[in-house]
Amino acid sequence: MITTTNPATGETIATYETLDDNGIDAKLEAATRTYREWRTSPIERRVELLAALGDLYESNKEELARLAVTEMGKPITQARGEVEKCARLFHYFAEAGPPMLESEFWDLSDGGRAEGRWLPQGPVLAVMPWNFPFWQVVRFLAPTILAGNVGVLKHASIVQGVAHRMEKLVLEAGGPEGLFQNLCVSSDPIGNVIADTRIVAATLTGSEGAGSAVAQQAGKHLKKVVLELGGSDPFIVMPSADLDQAVEDAVFARIQNNGQSCICGKRTIVHADIHDAFAEKFIAALKDVKLGDPMDDDTELGPLSSEGQRDTVLDQVAKAKDEGCSLLFGGEKLDRDGAWMTAGLLTDVPLASETGTDEIFGPVGQIYKAKDIEEAITIANAIPFGLGSAVWTNDDEEREIFANHIEAGMTTFNAVNGSKIEAPFGGIKKSGFGRELSHHGLHEFMNLKTLVYP
Ligand code: NAP
Repeated sequence: MITTTNPATGETIATYETLDDNGIDAKLEAATRTYREWRTSPIERRVELLAALGDLYESNKEELARLAVTEMGKPITQARGEVEKCARLFHYFAEAGPPMLESEFWDLSDGGRAEGRWLPQGPVLAVMPWNFPFWQVVRFLAPTILAGNVGVLKHASIVQGVAHRMEKLVLEAGGPEGLFQNLCVSSDPIGNVIADTRIVAATLTGSEGAGSAVAQQAGKHLKKVVLELGGSDPFIVMPSADLDQAVEDAVFARIQNNGQSCICGKRTIVHADIHDAFAEKFIAALKDVKLGDPMDDDTELGPLSSEGQRDTVLDQVAKAKDEGCSLLFGGEKLDRDGAWMTAGLLTDVPLASETGTDEIFGPVGQIYKAKDIEEAITIANAIPFGLGSAVWTNDDEEREIFANHIEAGMTTFNAVNGSKIEAPFGGIKKSGFGRELSHHGLHEFMNLKTLVYP
């Protein structure tokens, strides 16, 4: 049994019966059956389904957004934005996707011609987190449909309502039974699901620990895996930046999604020449963040996704103090039902400390002073992760240096870093491997079959 809880109130929302071994087996059988048909479905059929899903996400935006808020507490305006982004991605793959499946050809030096043809591979398992409960899944689902694969979802336990709703939306849009199924299970049986010969590959978005467990099992059974894991992204501000805009974006970068995004700007690194001026405004703006009911349109910071998640962040703040960091303000539990805490900011963080190298998945930032560009890059790279990064500079030479030397899968200039529906997304180091989105994401679970003709 899985019970979901509203993190804003602590109240139970619903309970869900988990699948036993027979239930899991039936889902995997259905996936295999549907794959036999779907793999050769006309591209027009796949595109039609993607477009219908895009329309459904748009027309059900308010209901879906409210469901996400109820289960994991993000501010409603951001939940609406998430659902809109899903709709855009479905439409994007419906329109721009088919050419990504076109073959490549080569003339062969010993005569004849070779073709590289993109073919589907089968049912893929997606293990997904709660923080963007629709978007993370749609990032997998849209290319799965286009590729001719089928998907089996193991969603985070705390967002089972979203998981069930997403399964139904595919059917409502006209998708066949078995194309996309929710496995309502805890993580316990996932090892067996990965080992099952009916599953051809796995993708996981989540923490390092879960990623490592899934990758080990996939490796043991020689199955491909894509991992989108955690991060502790730098948000770097150089002297040529528009200071006020950088402050505004640094605050949003840290507290978006109640501080629980893999690509939150978790470590703000400021050039010494502007550090004090920036810090003064940054602290004032962070203290000013509007905390409140996540269903209110003007709320900027809601509860964390669960009391457990909130307590993990509070423990990290306590650990930071033990390690000699200074807590400038906030980072405190709020005395009310639910998973509430205030935003906060740490400084004097030793680079090699646990605080300096761990991901803080909540609204507590860190601010660093860098004497020059080299030191900014050293601090940026002093973590085991390499997911995203943002740099504020109007100097072209500096941009080139940051572009080439920050160890990350993505660097955004003069804006909050975020995934783009048209461009690849993914990490390096302990942030994972493989890419999602664009033709790179689409091809991850496809077979590039080489055909040689005389
Ligand atoms: P999590 O605890 O790792 O859970 C993610 C998913 O993995 C959930 O469905 C979870 O199921 C499952 N899981 C946990 N342990 C498992 C195991 N041993 N074997 C198989 N499945 C397992 O992560 P989270 O707390 O939901 O999400 C936060 C983390 O995700 C952060 O580190 C964040 O940075 C990362 N993230 C990364 C990206 C990216 O694109 N790189 C995007 C979003 C989030 P249960 O819920 O049932 O435990």
